Amino acid sequence: MSAEKNTCPKCHSPYVYPDGHLWICPECSHEWSADQEAADSSGEPAQFVDANGTPLQDGDSVTIIKNLKAGKETIKSGTKVKNIKLLTEPVNGHDISCKIAGHGSMYLKCSVVKKA
Ligand SMILES: [Zn+2]
Repeated sequence: MSAEKNTCPKCHSPYVYPDGHLWICPECSHEWSADQEAADSSGEPAQFVDANGTPLQDGDSVTIIKNLKAGKETIKSGTKVKNIKLLTEPVNGHDISCKIAGHGSMYLKCSVVKKA
């Protein structure tokens, strides 16, 4: 992991050195911010965000914001969904597992819900 971090993201040279808050590659003159790297790796993993960009968590309640086809049925926009489960390994691009009253177990995408 750390070996990966101390190479140039552009030419993969291992001879990079820090200069203040920047990293500099002597081989291709590429400069990049170490702060940014640190923020990326230490920040909360925020890949689960709803349609408004609000982070979602396991157990949240959400509202579906558009009509969704589920087999022969349609799940209507405005349907409330309780106790969602976030999938770290998405199923067919769906990253929420939940149960919807009247429809049973479903997979949803974060982009079609908003936090209730
Ligand atoms: Zn380089």
